[in-house]
Amino acid sequence: MTSQRTRDRMIERLRAQGISNQKVLDTIRATPRHIFLDEALAHRAYEDSSLPIGFQQTLSQPYIVARMTELLLANGPRERVLEVGTGSGYQTAILAQHVGRVFSVERIRPLQEKARKRLRHLGLHNVHLRHADGGMGWPERGPFDAILSAAAPEVVPAELLEQLAVGGRLVIPVGEQGKPQSLYVYDRHEDGIEEQCIEPVLFVPLVGGVVA
Ligand code: SAH
Repeated sequence: MTSQRTRDRMIERLRAQGISNQKVLDTIRATPRHIFLDEALAHRAYEDSSLPIGFQQTLSQPYIVARMTELLLANGPRERVLEVGTGSGYQTAILAQHVGRVFSVERIRPLQEKARKRLRHLGLHNVHLRHADGGMGWPERGPFDAILSAAAPEVVPAELLEQLAVGGRLVIPVGEQGKPQSLYVYDRHEDGIEEQCIEPVLFVPLVGGVVA
């Protein structure tokens, strides 16, 4: 289930799907994905699919985690990174191995608590978790060199764009509920924001408010 061969096959699939950042591929190979799942699903951890983590939420597909991480790192190293939607903590764990510090916000408390234990277990101490509505960003800790959202708003929240430093990049799925979504990249330049539409995706919605 967790054998090196199973993980190697996942990396080969990611490469065939167009993931080319070798450091990202190495991190995904080295990071156990099965510990981010409940035991009953752990045997499916190295399939290229999203998997349920409870509360109607999902652990993102490895391809999406790889793609978003690669996009976030494309313009060079990132020191301060905001993640919206910690979920299982898997994407957080991958990010934490590539950037200075990750500030990750989750609205569902029990998911956050599980993620906290897993990240500690992996010895990732450059992660700061907050139980809050991530659609508002984390203004006290901004501005950020990059922001990654693991949940899709219908419209990009202005707060996230505002908390991007100059040279910073936001990677975010966007789409109305029930309609096709697309992955977008927003780069903040001295003189404004540049938008790029990357590819079609399927994410859980960004929801306002918090669950205790
Ligand atoms: N990358 C995560 C994805 C989890 S799914 C993983 O691989 O496990 C997306 C997560 O975003 C869910 O946990 C959901 O609760 C969270 N979420 C949705 N809206 C949010 C909001 N406004 N603020 C913070 N988290 C939110």
